[in-house]
Amino acid sequence: MGHETWDLIGHEETVRFLQAQIQRGTVGHAYLFTGPSGVGRRTLALRFAQALACAHPPHAGAYCGHCRVCRLYPQQAHPDLHVLHDPGGLKVETVRTVRPKLLLSPRDARVRVVLLPNVEQATPAALNALLKSLEEPPEHVVFLLTARSPEAILPTLASRCQEFPLRPVPYATLRDGLTARGFPLAQAAWLAAWAQGRPGRALRWAQQPDDWRAYVAQIQDGLQLLHAPLRERLAYAAPYRAADREAVQARLATWQALWDLWLRLHQGLSDPRGHVAGGEIMRAVARQLTLNQVLQGLQHIQQGLRLLARYGNPRLVLEGALLTWPRLQGRAPDYARAVEQLIPAAAGHEPKPVP
Ligand SMILES: [Zn+2]
Repeated sequence: MGHETWDLIGHEETVRFLQAQIQRGTVGHAYLFTGPSGVGRRTLALRFAQALACAHPPHAGAYCGHCRVCRLYPQQAHPDLHVLHDPGGLKVETVRTVRPKLLLSPRDARVRVVLLPNVEQATPAALNALLKSLEEPPEHVVFLLTARSPEAILPTLASRCQEFPLRPVPYATLRDGLTARGFPLAQAAWLAAWAQGRPGRALRWAQQPDDWRAYVAQIQDGLQLLHAPLRERLAYAAPYRAADREAVQARLATWQALWDLWLRLHQGLSDPRGHVAGGEIMRAVARQLTLNQVLQGLQHIQQGLRLLARYGNPRLVLEGALLTWPRLQGRAPDYARAVEQLIPAAAGHEPKPVP
């Protein structure tokens, strides 16, 4: 790790490829980084931009870490870096406002960089305006787009970009990346296991303990509901309204990860989540479920997520999933307690900087 490899966790091959382009002087005008949220699309795009713009690179493809670019790019505060983002999706006005600025020479970097995160959420009008800018980009401008997948955006837009699909980072790479940043091993192991290859997710949990606690609480809810009678399950779903779509989606996504883990354990696959804090609880639950129950549980959650994406009623979707779960005997195990000691007490826990 270090400035030479852009201080990233994972994605070494993509970094090497982009560095080689900088070294050979073959950098293009538009790039598209795809993959699941939290995998590192925006971070990678920003570090690429930093390496392109750094005033004193130690060698081509690296950045110095000290110049004005290196100080201001990570905070997205440099005047030659334009981050185009509107709540709810990019709007055409935002694209139009930035366009005249792109014609100007960069102020103190070598390039002007336009970063467009989550471009699949952009309005059609904004995408059209963007396409026009991409057709004849000024020599000194580089566009960096991020999206869930190339299929999620217009083919005409994707075809103008070099695409780099980012895959989940292997467990050991993520765990070691976290310990190198100063996290204690047990904490790094849990974060790496449950973030499932997404460094952004692991770091967000570590830096915002409330988010971490909320995720653990969803896991705990899943276990509790598995032991609960039907009336308790209905009571759990009852308060959710149409406006709670995202909250229900988040719960179902967490439970999908749970049932997916139980399926993997049933199939005899090794999974790091079964070996970090609370892992023995997960293995014990898997033993109490039959393979058929696990398959059905997973299937109903996936179906619920599909229904929610098509505007199904959040409460009914939640009920639909919960009523199909088998009921386990005895008291629910206390997963939250098994993990609580790993969660940093103070919000904004700052790990040591990377040496
Ligand atoms: Zn620099």
